[in-house]
Amino acid sequence: MYCRFGWLCALWLGVFALTPVRAQSSRGDMTLINGRIYSDLGLWGAKQGFRSRWNPTTGELRMTNRWASLEFKTDTARVEYDGTLLWLEYPVAVERGRPYIAQRDLDLTLMPLLKPGKLPTGRHIRRIALSAGHGGKDPGNMEGSRQEKTFTLKLAKELAQRLRAAGFEVIQVRERDEFVPLDERPEMANRLKADLYLALHFNGAGSGGGSSSAQGAETFALTLPNGRSTHGGTSSGPQPGNRFDRDNLLLAYQIHRAVLNSMDLMDRGVKRANFAELRGTRMPAAYLEGGFMDHPDDLRRIVSDRERGKLADAIVDGIQAYKRLVERE
Ligand SMILES: [Zn+2]
Repeated sequence: MYCRFGWLCALWLGVFALTPVRAQSSRGDMTLINGRIYSDLGLWGAKQGFRSRWNPTTGELRMTNRWASLEFKTDTARVEYDGTLLWLEYPVAVERGRPYIAQRDLDLTLMPLLKPGKLPTGRHIRRIALSAGHGGKDPGNMEGSRQEKTFTLKLAKELAQRLRAAGFEVIQVRERDEFVPLDERPEMANRLKADLYLALHFNGAGSGGGSSSAQGAETFALTLPNGRSTHGGTSSGPQPGNRFDRDNLLLAYQIHRAVLNSMDLMDRGVKRANFAELRGTRMPAAYLEGGFMDHPDDLRRIVSDRERGKLADAIVDGIQAYKRLVERE
């Protein structure tokens, strides 16, 4: 059961059921929290056709409609969209006994996923740029004699083969063990007019002993203009974002979801980061960290041809899902 207090649940469901009237009649659904515009999450959900159940004791708020489910937890920035984790810029807050969400998070994170039909039309996703992380003098994360650069290149080649078989053109930013500077990678994709850019990496928590407790996959989209990075690192000041902000997130989400659906990896979520590779592209871009080199379970998958093949299949599925959503006339 979501709610231990039956009468409170009934009250909440009752309030949500009445919401369209109230939402249309006033801006009482908005408030300022820490100087930022927040919207009443239950009222917003009702406008989107969601049924909401909130447990004030645990802070869990679950919304479902015919097409999607959203699970929030108040005082955190995490939300599961159809079971896949993504990170909001700001925590969901409780104000006057109701959950509120930053308006930015509704407009720039949730709506692009829920309503991809509002993205620009008439696009074609044919040419995919793959950037195998690191290379040459830059080994990336290391675990014993195993170097990240080796496995990102293997994955890129396995992925390129599958994408070509599926009818895509593929640009490989590097095809051998060579050093390609970070800023040149998106430049190459820009010059060759790629429709989509994907950076491939494997993570490391820095323990160096194969015993990291951090594990799982995370997928990044570029930090929003003047937005917050949500990858746990420090933000380096205001970011410009780019004109593909909504696409970037949709692409990152579709790839992440496909990977998590097919691989037995822990879900670390879709995040925002101001990575150089994401900043420099003039096309939608995402950045996948497909597991931790220094976690034994993840490492086993990273070095296994069979498991990496599954990962490549999943990435193709994610790209195809994104393509289907944006290729509308
Ligand atoms: Zn890397």
